[in-house]
Amino acid sequence: MDNQYNMRSRHPKKKSTSRLVIFMALIALVIFLGFFSATQYITAQSLQGKLRSLDQKIDQLEEEQSELENKYEEIYEENERLREENQKLQEENKMMRSEALIEHGNRETNRVAITIDDGGSEEVNLLALDHLKELGVRATLFPTGKNVEAYPESWKRAVKEGHELGNHTYGHPFLSNLSEERVREELNGWQEMVEKVIGKTYHTPFFRPPYGDGFLSGQGYQRERLQPIVAEKGMFPIMWDIELVYALRNEAYTASRITEHVLQNAQGGSIVLLHFTEADVEALPHIINGLRERGLEPCSLRELLLSEPHS
Ligand SMILES: [Zn+2]
Repeated sequence: MDNQYNMRSRHPKKKSTSRLVIFMALIALVIFLGFFSATQYITAQSLQGKLRSLDQKIDQLEEEQSELENKYEEIYEENERLREENQKLQEENKMMRSEALIEHGNRETNRVAITIDDGGSEEVNLLALDHLKELGVRATLFPTGKNVEAYPESWKRAVKEGHELGNHTYGHPFLSNLSEERVREELNGWQEMVEKVIGKTYHTPFFRPPYGDGFLSGQGYQRERLQPIVAEKGMFPIMWDIELVYALRNEAYTASRITEHVLQNAQGGSIVLLHFTEADVEALPHIINGLRERGLEPCSLRELLLSEPHS
């Protein structure tokens, strides 16, 4: 009996303990689940908030992007338009250069361009620069590449003092005798020598053919062949309306006759062709002073041809 009772009373005791454990465990589970879902809820809420703000940001970015795309399109179109315009201008420019043969500038100005060709001895080169400096004149000088090579100091000084150098070929050949390839070599040879001597890239829009050969009247075929090569390098062929070698061919070639001839023939827009000879350089200050006395202003080709005309 005792045993039985004991066994009986022990069993319910065990049962109530395990019920309590289960009950407690259930409570713990409920609390845990409650806590867990609350955490989940809060996390979800804050995620939703974040998602919303991300959505807004994406919308904003999309708007900005489409604005940028529109702007890009506008810029692209504008760029295309400018490119086309530029190309047209370049073509026109090149066409102009390959057709124009410049013998003088605008006759409405009082300017007269002084151009001096070939280069001479260092002494004569420097004397010409002294005269120009003393009288405050900028001129356009057309030395050969060979003279630039022989007397680099003359030409470095010329550029430093504001004179412009024009291309007169490297070796001063008759261009009508040369193949197109050799003509290019002559033009490039000048360019390379000038750049080597002055130590930087140098662009000149001016080309003077040695002896005028290939561009004189009656040389139409040669000019058609040669002028596009000159234009390729962005240059105009520059002739003259006053020269002395041919004009004084039957006379004594003296400084006073040179001066007289120039002053008798010069007018607004004239391009005077001189050379670096002793007689020409001796005449130079008399020519400059004489032109000024007649109300004409000696200047460079750029000042005559490429700047606004003034009277
Ligand atoms: Zn020459």
